[in-house]
Parts: sequence; structure tokens; C-alpha cells
Amino acid sequence: MAQTEISPRTNIREIVAELSIAEEVLTEFGLHCAGCGVNKYETIEQGAKAHGLRVEPILAALTQARLSGRVPTIMNEDKTPVRRAPGEFARRARFKYVVPIMSGKGGVGKSLTTALIAVGLRRAGKKVGILDADITGPSIPRLFGLTTPLGLEPDPSTPPGQQPKPLMVPAMSRSAIEIVSSNLLTDKEDTAMIWRGPILSGVIRQFYEQALWSDLDYLLIDLPPGTSDAPLTVLQSLAVDGIVLVTMPQRLATMIVRKAANLVHQLGKPIVGVVENMSYFVAPDTGKRYDVFGPSYADEVATLAGAPMLARLPIDPNLVALADNGRVEEIDDPVVDVLAEKLQAAMAQRPAKPAETISLI
Ligand code: ADP
Repeated sequence: MAQTEISPRTNIREIVAELSIAEEVLTEFGLHCAGCGVNKYETIEQGAKAHGLRVEPILAALTQARLSGRVPTIMNEDKTPVRRAPGEFARRARFKYVVPIMSGKGGVGKSLTTALIAVGLRRAGKKVGILDADITGPSIPRLFGLTTPLGLEPDPSTPPGQQPKPLMVPAMSRSAIEIVSSNLLTDKEDTAMIWRGPILSGVIRQFYEQALWSDLDYLLIDLPPGTSDAPLTVLQSLAVDGIVLVTMPQRLATMIVRKAANLVHQLGKPIVGVVENMSYFVAPDTGKRYDVFGPSYADEVATLAGAPMLARLPIDPNLVALADNGRVEEIDDPVVDVLAEKLQAAMAQRPAKPAETISLI
């Protein structure tokens, strides 16, 4: 069998299939092989770029591993993500789009939908971050299998002679989605955070401003559930480009959407899309489709929200299994691509704005 060429354009999945040690080498660089499941078409160059790594040391290590059959020693600087070119960090990160995900009530799958949108955008080659503002539970870190508390780094732009402020380093998921969450501040998953109103909004602002985010195409914000003070303070305090609303097929949903749409309208922030989650169930044995929670209100809801339906997600036991095991990035369902495509189309319709620049306090 001809050997797969090792070049920047080599497909990660192909090289791992041919050269089993390649998986170990890539893992050493933080390019976990779950990454192959994340994007079947990703090349070594794209993987390196997404993770903020230089591609040359990866190619060199793979070539060496093929020759020696062993994982070579990799220098720390070659496996440490460079978030920006040196000197480029000027107390600013640029987010092209800031998109909060909102739900009328808890338990409708808002966090899971946020994760699926992130995975879809990432597969479309976008740089994605998730700011987990839903402090009611550890869902986002758990979906991505993240447990290590966030690291802190001194503010690289501190003027000489001043005490640098510590900034949070976002966790990096296996497929290079950046994540900041209150549940990654301690390693105790069950420490419920009870921050309300202004305190919550202060904490969220810190996550936004005092974290070393990369320049991102999309910063998704997993809002606290419902339409109470907590999500609203978050919405008010951040520069939001468009909100995604998650609902379930229940009559109540239309009422909640009306309320959410009113609130959002008052705040002057547009809803850019609606996702109906747990829309239906397809029996794996018979292929028969059941509307478990009753008929869909998708069209009605989209009309009320004045925004397109991005997707209707089925109740999916496979998805739950992946979600429960921290492997949401391995989902093999084109619905994530549909979600990302439709969201991108909706954002493209929005009036152009300069990439938002945030300054760190
Ligand atoms: P929320 O963020 O709205 O509170 P979550 O995303 O945490 O909701 O989801 C609540 C629970 O429902 C989780 O256990 C999740 O795995 C499950 N769930 C969400 N969406 C689906 C779905 N489409 N199919 C099956 N289970 C789902």
C-alpha cells in the first residue's frame, strides 16, 4: 500500500488510519483523535491552525515517528497554543459575532443546542468560543468532557512596573472550541453557584473581558434559562449580534416565545433563529416517527419570533450517550452542519458591523 504523504494538506483521519502511531503523535500536540470524528475532512494544517499551533513541528514529528516507530520528544513551545502572533495582543480580542442562546425555561436542551451549534460552526472552519453563563449546572464543560479548572496567566499587556492582572485562559475542547465556564473555576462539579442579577452580570462580564480569548468568528453564550432577570442582565451588558431561541413543541412554547420576543425587542437585540428541540422521535426499529410532546409549533414560533427555524432536533438516545460521556463533538449527524449553515446565513443578512473589539479592564 502506498504510504500516505505527510504534508500540511494531509487529511488527519487518513494518516491515522494508515499510521497508527500518528494518533499518539497528534495527541501529544493536543490534537486529540476525537478530532477525526469532529471533522472527517480536516487537514493537519487546519487542525494546527484551529489549535493555535505551528504545522511544521507536527509534520516533522509525524515523519520522525513513521521512521522510528516511536513518538519523538516534542518541545513544549511546539505544543503550546499561540493564541495570537506575538505582539498582536493589545488588550483586545475581536469577536465577529456574539450570539447568545436563550430558552423560555430550563431543561429544553439549550446547553446541548449551544454545543451542537459550536460543533457545526467548528466543522465549517470557524473559530468558536462558548461563554457558559448558565450557572445552574455544569452542562457545557460536561458535554465537552472538560474538568480541569481554568488556568490563569498574567495580563501580557501590563505596562512595565505595574502588577499584572491575572486573566483566565479559556479551556480548549478536543476540537479547539474555547470554553469559559464558572464550573471550570473549581474542580468540584457539584458546587452550585448562586449568583443573581448584578453579581451574575459582573461575573459574566469578567468571563467576557478578563479571559484570554482568541479572535473568534463566533462567541456563543449559553444564557441562564428563562426570561427572568439573570439572562436579561447578561443580554443587556454585552454587545449582542443576534439571539438564538430554543423551544420545545408545547403549546406553552408559543407563549414563552412571545414573551421572549417582546423582551428581546425591548432590548433592541434581534432574534436570528429558533431551534425546536425534542421535536420528534424516530423509532430505531420501525423508522416510525412519533411526535412525543405533541404537534410541532415550529412555524408559529418562527413567525412570532420573526426569525427562521434553524433546525428541528429529534429526541436522540445516541446524542444523550455522547453528551453524558463528554463526547458531544463526535456526533455524526448532518443536523449540526444544517444548524451552522442556517445560522451563518441568518447572520450574513444582518447589517454589517465592524468586528467588535473588546478591551480588557
Ligand atoms: P437546558 O440547557 O435547556 O437546561 P440541557 O441542554 O442541559 O437543557 O438538556 C437537558 C437534558 O435533556 C440533558 O440531559 C440533555 O442530554 C437532554 N436532551 C436535550 N436535548 C435532547 C435531545 N434532542 N434528545 C435527547 N435528550 C436531550
